[in-house]
Amino acid sequence: TPGGILTAEQYLAMDTLCDAVASGSLRITSRQGIQYHFVRKGDLHWLLATLNDHLVTTLGACGDVVRNIMCCPAPLADRQRADVAPYVQEVARRFRPRTQAYYELWLDGERAVTAMEPGEAPGEEPLYGTAYLPRKFKIGFAFPGDNCIDVYSNDIGVVPVLDGDGESLRGFTVLVGGGMGKNHTKPDTFPRLADPLATVAPEELMEVLATIIGVQRDHGDRHDREHARLKYLIHEWGIDRFRAEVAQRLRRPLPAPEPVVFEAADDHLGWHPQGDGRWFLGVKVENGRIVDRGAVRVRSGLRAVVERFAPGVRLTAREDILLTDLADRDRPDVEALLGDYGVLPAEQWVAIKRNSFACPALPTCGLALTESERALPGVLDELEVALDALGLAGLDVHVRMTGCPNGCSRPYTTEIGLVGRGKKNYDIHLGGEPVGIRLNDIFAENVPRDELVNVLRPVLAHYRDQRQSEERFGDFCHRQGVDPLRAQLGTERWARKPRDPAKENTNPS
Ligand code: SF4
Repeated sequence: TPGGILTAEQYLAMDTLCDAVASGSLRITSRQGIQYHFVRKGDLHWLLATLNDHLVTTLGACGDVVRNIMCCPAPLADRQRADVAPYVQEVARRFRPRTQAYYELWLDGERAVTAMEPGEAPGEEPLYGTAYLPRKFKIGFAFPGDNCIDVYSNDIGVVPVLDGDGESLRGFTVLVGGGMGKNHTKPDTFPRLADPLATVAPEELMEVLATIIGVQRDHGDRHDREHARLKYLIHEWGIDRFRAEVAQRLRRPLPAPEPVVFEAADDHLGWHPQGDGRWFLGVKVENGRIVDRGAVRVRSGLRAVVERFAPGVRLTAREDILLTDLADRDRPDVEALLGDYGVLPAEQWVAIKRNSFACPALPTCGLALTESERALPGVLDELEVALDALGLAGLDVHVRMTGCPNGCSRPYTTEIGLVGRGKKNYDIHLGGEPVGIRLNDIFAENVPRDELVNVLRPVLAHYRDQRQSEERFGDFCHRQGVDPLRAQLGTERWARKPRDPAKENTNPS
């Protein structure tokens, strides 16, 4: 689902399938995709074939290839979005694996409508060759000013450069070498933000992206999968050597990158005019789980709205959903219908819950060390109580949780990152910020689940007493530094400890 874009018909088909072959819920991912959970082996063929019947493919959802292409999902009817949208689709099409096996296994040997290039021989992998890439490869598009997709966390980030009028497309600034994952036991693995590489003309973009992927294909580490992402190649080479290699392959110098500025990372929740007389509504989906639970029947509510109003559907990088192309006159009825199913409007979520999300983790992710999606709501409930007691009710602080250090919910850029460490333990990272332009640091290591809020409480109290005017919690922690913060608060026992890797929990990714 490049850019997280679905039609109403596709959404309804996907919704129906989750009853037929899965666990009765859809799970929006942090890369604008959908997961089905607990699919029986015997149902896989039918599930994948039926998705393809609706022009949705799972090809490239996994494996050492370019994964789902991310893009800001806001359906604004401006010139820059109209100009950029074809590039997003083209990148998805161009870098999709050409493997025949997918079709033979899942689609009875038939080619999907969109998969083959004109004139292409079956089975050719013009970019991936015979061995594919050393590791998965992520590409995302963000628009100037709004880093809602966390563009710096991608192997390649693409940011349009607009003309002076702010409307028409003059080029793209290409960022390289971002990635979130690390391994707790390997100090040479780490999260990293992408570096600016170059600003290129629109007609150069595909060639430049293919060349970058080719450098990673040929020079990425194929001996150690935990050290195989592009970020490690760029970390070791330095951006100048990487740029020189790309330029040499292109047989021309790369223009210097123009500055990229992000002031915000919009959650796109609530009502927004699209600029074409229609509206879109961002609906908060707790941890991306589209499910009916008790009186809150998110899945039924969304289905009812999509059936009745046939909006476009878009998935966000924060695991929420946008219902698009709605007429002004329909807005009260859409709200009332969602309300009938207990779906809360975005403005009724307290800030700490509105802005937080988790990866799936247990019981559905084979790499999980501990809970995430099922644990975060309880942690946020406790944090909300703690904030109230500290006189910080309603504080806007962003929390992201994962069940392992692979970092699928991008916990390393946010204000409070809770990263699964062991069966019931987490590392607490502090000092990120909401725009995704700074990494946080480990404040406390290996904290039991039930101690998380107890460890955070004195930091929040210190923030309440010592913050500068309008200073965010993440900025405060960054300004203080995690080591001085621990020393001031007498919480050194949570500091990182020397360890015996043989005794650590880890996972095979
Ligand atoms: Fe990703 Fe790890 Fe969460 Fe699984 S447990 S979804 S690999 S962060």
